[in-house]
Amino acid sequence: MTRKVRTRIAPSPTGFLHLGTARTALFSWAFARHHGGDFILRIEDTDVARSTQEAVDQIIAAMKWLQLDYDEGPFFQMQRLNRYREVIAKMLAEGTAYHCYCTPQELDAMREAQRTRGEKPRYDGRWRPEPGKTLPAAPSDVPPVVRFRNPLSGDVTWNDLVKGTITISNRELDDLIIARPDGTPTYNFCVVVDDWDMQISHVIRGDDHVNNTPRQINILRALGAELPEYGHVPMILGPDGDKLSKRHGAVSVMQYEEAGYLPDAMVNYLSRLGWSHGDDELFSRAQLVSWFDGAHLAKSPAQWDAAKLNWVNARYLKGTDDALLASLVSAQLSRRGFVVGSAENLVRLCALFKDRCATTGELADWLGMYFGDVQPSADDITTHVTDLVRPALHTLRGKFVEIDWSKAAISAAIKETISAHGIKMPQLAHAVRVLVCGRAQTPSIDAVLELFPRETVLSRLQAA
Ligand code: GLU
Repeated sequence: MTRKVRTRIAPSPTGFLHLGTARTALFSWAFARHHGGDFILRIEDTDVARSTQEAVDQIIAAMKWLQLDYDEGPFFQMQRLNRYREVIAKMLAEGTAYHCYCTPQELDAMREAQRTRGEKPRYDGRWRPEPGKTLPAAPSDVPPVVRFRNPLSGDVTWNDLVKGTITISNRELDDLIIARPDGTPTYNFCVVVDDWDMQISHVIRGDDHVNNTPRQINILRALGAELPEYGHVPMILGPDGDKLSKRHGAVSVMQYEEAGYLPDAMVNYLSRLGWSHGDDELFSRAQLVSWFDGAHLAKSPAQWDAAKLNWVNARYLKGTDDALLASLVSAQLSRRGFVVGSAENLVRLCALFKDRCATTGELADWLGMYFGDVQPSADDITTHVTDLVRPALHTLRGKFVEIDWSKAAISAAIKETISAHGIKMPQLAHAVRVLVCGRAQTPSIDAVLELFPRETVLSRLQAA
């Protein structure tokens, strides 16, 4: 590669950062890092009516959470309007763009006539300057748009990093409007000027942009700009095969942060949607970066798989240092309205429960029994806190008043109690779990009880 690799992600701040955009950002980031290049964040905020500061903040927060660090930006298109105007003026002067005075009514009539003749509706070039052609006199009461003078013949061909060679005939392409009557530049034009000015070498984006690419290439050529390479990644689909949307569940990156997914797990999972490295499923960021050279991007769309994401996240959770986990779970508990006391206890709680959880949110749900009241279900009470077990619960409570509050002593007290009452371990353990933990299944009961204050256990057993 001769050119310095420079990639970008260019979200529009009209909502949260969508998982699909996050995946494209991840691919662009990993590609730049792989090649020792630069990754740029550009906010495409020219749709003023729909762009919000809140969405900008969300995008930046999501990039930060995923640790997709950018070398330049965020750049805002609305701060670059003068630059777009300058390029438009240059194109008008050079004859690669021209004023078109058609009114919306004239354009409607033009399309209607084309349809009647069985032709595909398109701009007929009536204001397009040609050598030897006399243009109509410009009306003084119609503010003109600026159109790009697209080549009339030939093809636009590019070798897409994902899809292979794509060829579009110029006869398919209209003379695109690049500035509206009020002078504001249009979407495709801003993208071109930005990619040019920012010296973007590789544009990796969703394949919903394939149709824009030949237009953008033609404009770049007219400007004498070096062309970036393009890679169009297929959309992410929901389990039903439709494009992934809110209908399928959470599609905003930050909802996953809230639910207690880990950024490294999210990056690992997202990278496998439409890209592969052999059969590898679990790998670090460093491995991703070392492998991500632009090859092995899938031509067919990937499907969102919530169960697989949970599996990946559970694996990362298992491998996360307990002290770090405790701080994440502490935030989750606070969101649930619990007051978390000593961090030390929380570290031990995380170590004990993390194996059965996919997210820190689930972990916090488990740990709720340590920080707030429990409400055993009537069913669990009837099934487990039986007349047969009740006397043993009283004995056990009596022992709990006196023993050393440690796992070993709790275990010994339970064993003594079951043999004194001639009942089985699960009968007593289940009853204790239901009363103290509010559920019949938990990790080993002595380990679970040890992490409660003795007083809490005594008062919950009192209910037997
Ligand atoms: N703003 C566009 C989008 O959010 C991205 C355009 C591009 O990557 O070229 O879909």
